[in-house]
Amino acid sequence: MAIILDHVNYIYNPDTAMSKAALKDISLQIPDGQFIGLIGHTGSGKSTLVQHLNGLMKPTSGSVYFNGKDINDEEYNRKELRAKVGLVFQYPEHQLFEINCFQDVCFGPKNLGLPQKEVELRAYDALKKVGFPDESFYQSPFDLSGGQKRRVAIAGVLAMKPDVLILDEPTAGLDPKGRDEILNLIADLHENMGITVILVSHSMEDVANYVERIIVMNKGEALYDGEPKEVFSHYKELEEIGLAAPQVTYVMQELRDAGIPVATDATTIDEAADEIMRVLGA
Ligand code: ADP
Repeated sequence: MAIILDHVNYIYNPDTAMSKAALKDISLQIPDGQFIGLIGHTGSGKSTLVQHLNGLMKPTSGSVYFNGKDINDEEYNRKELRAKVGLVFQYPEHQLFEINCFQDVCFGPKNLGLPQKEVELRAYDALKKVGFPDESFYQSPFDLSGGQKRRVAIAGVLAMKPDVLILDEPTAGLDPKGRDEILNLIADLHENMGITVILVSHSMEDVANYVERIIVMNKGEALYDGEPKEVFSHYKELEEIGLAAPQVTYVMQELRDAGIPVATDATTIDEAADEIMRVLGA
């Protein structure tokens, strides 16, 4: 059992007029290798939650365990934890700063104190894993497209060899093509590396096709937690909190309302197509 949150609460600016409860009694178990979508409206607590998973933030009350150990114990090695639970921030390209892409990806493993040769091997391997072209390795990160910059930033976290990869709104600001490419890359990384992936998004459409579990945050609480089908069955309640289910959910619902007896739990276009064909006897 990789990560456990036990009754985690977090309050910004406690005991002041600005006090804000951002996480309310969150208890979760995140087993190894799962692909999870963490969904919620802006301000629902997603960023606050993920920063608790790698020890960047400490709960006001409650505990976070990684592989059975309380990460907020005094003697716990949080530097090592940040390598194991890698967090790709929103707009991570804003944090690229080295003279070329390769150097940038070297930064994390170098900081872990690894020998230079190992640092370079890891950087090379990570850039290959994200499909970054060899001829751009020594280019300045500032000359790249938005999507390529993001690949370099993701490689920088992968070079730490994380067991858990958390990406906070990884598609923010990308055009639809760039968005699909990054989402496909993340799905490939999950499949090929066997790591746990937590994809933070405010878009159901983004995660519906990819993840096996969705956690819906609302006002600091984990409102729903389950397989996409199960979570999208609450599509009316999701709308009430400003989160639309994927379009396919609505299409299937309307077909059913129109008297075509399709099951309404398809969450991807392929599943919906199969279901419609089944009902049509095709
Ligand atoms: P999300 O990632 O879902 O957009 P956040 O975790 O950033 O949500 O924010 C959760 C709540 O905590 C919001 O109400 C937000 O205004 C508040 N908050 C976030 N960061 C701070 C901060 N540094 N100081 C005070 N309140 C904050």
